[in-house]
Amino acid sequence: MPMPALFLDRDGVVNIDHGYVVTHDRFEFVDGIFDLARAAVDRGYRVVVITNQSGIARGYFSEEEFLSFTAWMVGEFRARGVELTGVQHCPYHRSGPVERYRRDSFWRKPAPGMILEAARRYDLDVTRSMFVGDQPTDMQAALAAGVGTRVLIPSKDAPADLDTKTANRVVGRLSEILPLLTGVLRG
Ligand SMILES: [Mg+2]
Repeated sequence: MPMPALFLDRDGVVNIDHGYVVTHDRFEFVDGIFDLARAAVDRGYRVVVITNQSGIARGYFSEEEFLSFTAWMVGEFRARGVELTGVQHCPYHRSGPVERYRRDSFWRKPAPGMILEAARRYDLDVTRSMFVGDQPTDMQAALAAGVGTRVLIPSKDAPADLDTKTANRVVGRLSEILPLLTGVLRG
């Protein structure tokens, strides 16, 4: 039977967004991310990271570097008792200098491609799932994919006129999301 998922944006949700991070010294986990992911797994969710990584198309780092860094990140979750089901990334950008990755992609948020691909690959029930992101484009991608619960956690330097209308929850910290997880399963 398809399972609900907790979809997590990476930069700004899993880690503090310092911009195009693929080195350990610049990677800081956001407070409460392990507790949130563990609570989700305990309640029967699969946890999947959904991340635009245009730094690959922009030539800031290679896809191999990203993947090897991701293996380390997955290990950090595992060391804290959380098994991530997957990490879906989009390396493309329409105007990046790296020709191999220069294109429009249905995977790049705000398009829903990565979420739909994860749903197919891991047998996920998107309507009973939750997406947590820090950008309106995360919420747009989640809405387009049919994700039922869309939680926006704006970064501290988010503009005052941040577009929140595609989210159905706006929270200030990850711990506020814990009660929403049980709500999804009860529904
Ligand atoms: Mg983000």
